[in-house]
Amino acid sequence: MRKSQEESSKARITELQQERSVLLNGREDLVAKVPTNVVKRYERLRNGLVNAVIIISDGTCTACRMALPAQLTIELQRAEDLHQCPHCRRIIIHKSVIEE
Ligand SMILES: [Zn+2]
Repeated sequence: MRKSQEESSKARITELQQERSVLLNGREDLVAKVPTNVVKRYERLRNGLVNAVIIISDGTCTACRMALPAQLTIELQRAEDLHQCPHCRRIIIHKSVIEE
C-alpha cells in the first residue's frame, strides 16, 4: 500500500515537472513575440540611462554613488521642485518625501 503511494507521488512529480517545462517554453515564445522596439526600450531603461527616477535616503546618489551637494539634499527634502543628480542626470527624490 505504502509502496504504491510512493510511486504515485513520483509519477505526480514527473507530471508536474513536465508541466513546468511546458510553461517555461511558453514564456520564451511570449518574449519572442514582444516587438523589438519595446524590448530595446526596456533594455535602455534597465541600463538606467534614460528617464530613470531614483530614491535617495542620504546625501549620496544611489545610482552613481556620487555625493550630492548639501544644498541640493536640502532642496530635495523640501520637494518644491524636481531635481536631477548633477553627476548622472537621473531624477532624484528624497525618501522622506514619499514616506510622509
Ligand atoms: Zn547620480
